[in-house]
Amino acid sequence: MYIDGQWRANEATFPVFNPATGEKLADVADANARDLEDAIESAHRTFPEWSATTAYRRAAMLRDAYALMMERKEPLAKQMTEEQGKPLKAARNEVQYAADFLLWYSEEARRLYGSTIPAPRSDQRFIVAHQPIGVVGAITPWNYPTSMVTRKLAPALAAGCTVVLKPAEQTPLCAMEVFKILDEVGLPPGVANLVTTSNPVPVGEAFTSDRRIRKVTFTGSTEVGRILGEAAGKSLKRVSMELGGHAPFLVMADADPVHAAKGASLVKFLNTGQACISPNRMYVHRSIAEQFTAVLADRVSKMRAGNGLADGISVGPLVDDAAVEKVERQVTDAVDKGATTVVGGHRLTADGLEAGHFYAPTVLDGVEPGMDIYREETFGPVAPVIPFDDEDTVLDLANDTEYGLAAYVYTNDLSKAMRLFEGLRFGIVGINDINPTAAAAPFGGMGDSGLGREGGREGIAEYLETKLGGFSLR
Ligand code: ADP
Repeated sequence: MYIDGQWRANEATFPVFNPATGEKLADVADANARDLEDAIESAHRTFPEWSATTAYRRAAMLRDAYALMMERKEPLAKQMTEEQGKPLKAARNEVQYAADFLLWYSEEARRLYGSTIPAPRSDQRFIVAHQPIGVVGAITPWNYPTSMVTRKLAPALAAGCTVVLKPAEQTPLCAMEVFKILDEVGLPPGVANLVTTSNPVPVGEAFTSDRRIRKVTFTGSTEVGRILGEAAGKSLKRVSMELGGHAPFLVMADADPVHAAKGASLVKFLNTGQACISPNRMYVHRSIAEQFTAVLADRVSKMRAGNGLADGISVGPLVDDAAVEKVERQVTDAVDKGATTVVGGHRLTADGLEAGHFYAPTVLDGVEPGMDIYREETFGPVAPVIPFDDEDTVLDLANDTEYGLAAYVYTNDLSKAMRLFEGLRFGIVGINDINPTAAAAPFGGMGDSGLGREGGREGIAEYLETKLGGFSLR
């Protein structure tokens, strides 16, 4: 743990495992009530001073943190592969993405502009200023263990907030590396605090009820988001939530099925499908569905699953056995109800994979609305293909979900692209684009996918209060 500028151990610990090998990587301090109290108090005590520093100073620290993270890209990526499982190349990309937030918000810190508003009376002036909201309680997930930490920390610190962060119990080591960097660039004690724990419940309760915490930011499941949102509602805290998704991937009749299948294979199996923006329903026009599925199946059959540190591995393990079981259950349910397994469709236990949590990259054809996979988030390496006939109704099918995070469309028709972009009820729409994300762009969902945005200009607004000054002149 990192509390008030000091690294703190504890007699109580919990183990962290490599999901590819089952090997124990470390024992990490398991926070108790005292640790949590110290972290919150330290952030609270430090807030007046930190919020009064110049934006230039805050920007300089974030820029230094960016530089140090870039210097450590390779060891950070390797550690991420060991702790989280994604292939080394994907881990390098994530470290870059994580560092991008530090750089972007170092720049945004100096652009926290206010405004003036023409007033109705000649002796009156209005000014609008933005001030940091206060102490932030942040909870992050295991699937993007470094970038989800900086996506919250960087805008919060840039805004002038102080933070207590709790990483996922599966991936505390990646979070510790981010805090080592902040410590080394001279972030003052108490500004950012890290509390590691095997039991997230008391932390969620403290973050949502403690008067000293003014804002809760959470990335994780919709289920936990609802618990935290409800609790935060009692004390009327500001919340940002980045939750689950069930992304549709539309391939229209005019699209190139080969190009679309290539895109589908690249985006679906990123992070072994463990991403909230991973496509969960691939609606393909029936006239090109056969060709699309054949190309997708061919590419997927060539993917190699295994330990992400080995050469040529494109699909890593799932996070744990429960995740493998969920995928198995969804695939069995779909097949029982008439879907066909084109590739994969089973656990991987041979060739040294038996100690890890592996599931074969899978393509399912003939997926229909009555199947669990049609509605439930999969968070695994399964691409369900759903042929459609009627272009007028595919928008309704795509929107028929409580989630609203990401959607993808392949079409070469500009009017159709614009109509779908406008009609899809999702926070992020990729038009012939499988990677519509960047530190500079607002990321977030509608409906059950969450509240608020991270990244971009919008991302720092989540950590600011708007203050109006009315001045009467005499
Ligand atoms: P996933 O199912 O992807 O693991 P979770 O929502 O369970 O997603 O986990 C995301 C983050 O939320 C993790 O940091 C986890 O420790 C935390 N978490 C889980 N349950 C709670 C809870 N009841 N209160 C606060 N945080 C929680």
